[in-house]
Amino acid sequence: MLNQSDRAGDNVLIIGGGPAGLATALMLAKRGWTNVTVLEQRIASDYYEPDKSFNYLIDGRGQDLTDLLGLTEELSQISVPSTEFYLTQVKHDGSSKTSKLAVVDPNRKAAYWIPRSAFVSLLDNEIQRNWQGKITVLFNAKCIEIRQIANTSDEVENLEAIAQINTKEIIKFSPQFLLGCDGIGSIVRSTLNEWDASNSDQFAMKLFPSPSTGLRYKVLTLPPQFPLDNNGKEHSISEMAYAIRSQIKDPKQKISLGLLPVKDLNQPRTANIITQPGHGIWELKSSGEAYNFLETSFPQLPIRQIISTEEIERFVTSTGGTFPAPQYCPQLYFLLKAAPEKLIGIALLGDAVHCFPPDIGQGVNSALQDVYLLNEALSQTNDNIASALPLYQSLRSPDLEPLIRLAQTSFPWQYNQDQIGRFLWSINFFMRLALNRVLPFLYSAPSFFLLQNHQLSYRQIWQKVQVTTRNLYLLLLLIICLLFAFGIKFYT
Ligand SMILES: Cc1cc2nc3c(=O)[nH]c(=O)nc-3n(C[C@H](O)[C@H](O)[C@H](O)COP(=O)(O)OP(=O)(O)OC[C@H]3O[C@@H](n4cnc5c(N)ncnc54)[C@H](O)[C@@H]3O)c2cc1C
Repeated sequence: MLNQSDRAGDNVLIIGGGPAGLATALMLAKRGWTNVTVLEQRIASDYYEPDKSFNYLIDGRGQDLTDLLGLTEELSQISVPSTEFYLTQVKHDGSSKTSKLAVVDPNRKAAYWIPRSAFVSLLDNEIQRNWQGKITVLFNAKCIEIRQIANTSDEVENLEAIAQINTKEIIKFSPQFLLGCDGIGSIVRSTLNEWDASNSDQFAMKLFPSPSTGLRYKVLTLPPQFPLDNNGKEHSISEMAYAIRSQIKDPKQKISLGLLPVKDLNQPRTANIITQPGHGIWELKSSGEAYNFLETSFPQLPIRQIISTEEIERFVTSTGGTFPAPQYCPQLYFLLKAAPEKLIGIALLGDAVHCFPPDIGQGVNSALQDVYLLNEALSQTNDNIASALPLYQSLRSPDLEPLIRLAQTSFPWQYNQDQIGRFLWSINFFMRLALNRVLPFLYSAPSFFLLQNHQLSYRQIWQKVQVTTRNLYLLLLLIICLLFAFGIKFYT
């Protein structure tokens, strides 16, 4: 009989110091756990990675956790609320139009726009301020191997995680509780996949196709308040979102600069450029070519004044990133029976078990929700990981496939990657919207709108989508029958 002590001997190792990893460390420390170590391969929490400098929108789902950690007030002070989301479209002729985002419901909790680095720093600062004795965050610390150590009688004796610190020193950890918060390429999940003897592929990611999968992105860093015209009369405002359109019509050359709002007036602006893999931007070889390309695309902007020679050099050499396929892992935990009478728990959270292109802005919210539900499971089991981890799985699993299906279908054509695809998707979208206005009890609003309501779970939203789809088919059948009946009447 395994005799698992509460808090697993308080020896916790978290792989990955992104949103999920740092939030998990804070959640455990708040519950009274001590001796929590986080390994993060980046060199600092606020390390600026241009191609990972996207903005999060932390909605009510993510705020359940920031409320629990007592961080929502601070979050609200360093971010831009969705209720204040204004978008300015700047056309190639220099004309511009500002509009307020229509999706925002003023009766709902505001969501907050915040750059990834600022959100990760918020969590790290909280650790440094209040939890230093309980949580240790090691930066420049990459987990390179996880293995089971067997004793002479071939029984598992221990779990060992090996980390490379500062690219040379090797440190070994023997955690009782290991958490994989290490993102899409998770070493924790892939190790569990190798260990899994069931041959059921329960630790393999299940992939779903999406029209945005495979799109490539790069980020251009711009000064905080850059000129929006060649006369230097108008400058960008930090808290404003921008969509800057190019004058080029050819889909292989056309680009847009998308900028999301930031609160910090000194924070550089980051313009996301998202294209098909065959787009001309990936062929640019030198700074001169890149300057020419951007000047031709955006004659309304003083490109050479806005983009420094260092930044254009970095931009042209950056290989950017590629949007992944929506995917999830069905199994979220692993219990390792170790001798004598010892149990080691391993749990997976965040992008390590569900990730998708950024179409619906739920990556960080779903990661924070995982942490919230793990806290729930620990609360209900008196922090006994042998009971908590199966409970965590049963609380979280029902939402995972719906989340991925929503990521796959809600707004995948927003990047103008294909006119026909976008047109067909728009018909479906506006049909649902119109029918919802007329017959709300039969037809739900499009899922992209339903996702803005944080009180609905992903499962509830997906159920509404499916019921609406079924009712749309019934409506279509009814119309066909009526036409058929009229046709018969007309000819007889
Ligand atoms: C281009 C792009 C745009 C996005 N836009 C949005 C958006 O608008 N809204 C949104 O909600 N989400 C967005 N996402 C998704 C979002 O970034 C993730 O869902 C979210 O960051 C998940 O947090 P996480 O902590 O689980 O994983 P991550 O943020 O990936 O963090 C994992 C951490 O683990 C570290 N790590 C990995 N392996 C190791 C190792 N072996 N040893 C030590 N450390 C390791 C990594 O350095 C990283 O810091 C976007 C993603 C991309 C790629």
